[in-house]
Amino acid sequence: MTSPIAIALHGGAGVLQAGVLSAEDENAVHASLLSALKAGLSILEEGGSALDAAQASVVELEECPWFNAGRGAVFTDKGDHEMDAAIMSGDNREAGAVAGIHFARNPIKAARAVLEHSDHVLLSGVGADQFVAAQALEHVDNAWFDTELRRRQWQAQRLNPQALSLEPGGIEKKFGTVGAVALDRSGQVAAATSTGGITNKRYGRIGDTPLIGAGTWADNRSAAISATGHGEFFIRCAVAHDIAARMRYTGARLRKACDQVVLGELKALGGNGGVVAVAPNGDTALVFNTPGMYRAWRDAEGGLHTAIYAAEDRLHVQEATT
Ligand code: ASP
Repeated sequence: MTSPIAIALHGGAGVLQAGVLSAEDENAVHASLLSALKAGLSILEEGGSALDAAQASVVELEECPWFNAGRGAVFTDKGDHEMDAAIMSGDNREAGAVAGIHFARNPIKAARAVLEHSDHVLLSGVGADQFVAAQALEHVDNAWFDTELRRRQWQAQRLNPQALSLEPGGIEKKFGTVGAVALDRSGQVAAATSTGGITNKRYGRIGDTPLIGAGTWADNRSAAISATGHGEFFIRCAVAHDIAARMRYTGARLRKACDQVVLGELKALGGNGGVVAVAPNGDTALVFNTPGMYRAWRDAEGGLHTAIYAAEDRLHVQEATT
């Protein structure tokens, strides 16, 4: 039996208000989101795996300097970049993750290497860099991740350290973590998430992104989920796993479980952000408790959508139902 396919992705959540970005920049962001969606979707359409599809979408977003992942990652207090990423397969819950890595051009590929070529799930810091250096991946100097936009954002943060939060105060803080979830024709789901973390982070801070069950989760018995937002709250709520667990334990459908966790549990603690999620039956949910979330998804009829603000929905093409 052939399963329906599904794919959704995000590029960060926050206080995104219409009018802050120029129409030109908005269009550029929509184009990047659409292109990343198509990168994953083409793999699914050719019968490829959800894992490869989710990774392909995230790689495309890592390569795009608008987003806080790969090139365009935020600066730490030391003035460099420490990246976190995770990838998980819903088939057997195999997972790989890296935290605080410096030199992999595509951190999500480093996470995939942990999944495929190590006995471990999560590697961090110097050890993770050593592991990654031994993998057949593209390596770059840490300065390669620099962008002027992120440098200005970092300098502004240092002048006003109290503002160390994900609440964007200006245009320069509007682009975030990236992630994708996918369902392939064989009925497998997968999730992938990648980030530079939060601006001016210190002490080896690690957010929710590489923590399996917090920012990233996939299980064919429930759903694949990728999160973005204030990581500390997502860790405390085990957001991604909680959504999946509600589906398994209470029989809740995907959208309801996402609403309960993102609009209920997370919000009650004061956590801001959102998730993208797909279930093995093809259900797709994009839920956030912030004014906006960069996002893209394929609907059940094959239509491709991108959006930034809450009420927005740009339909790009209508494809044949699969
Ligand atoms: N969740 C990420 C972190 O806390 C940040 C984000 O999603 O923008 O590291």
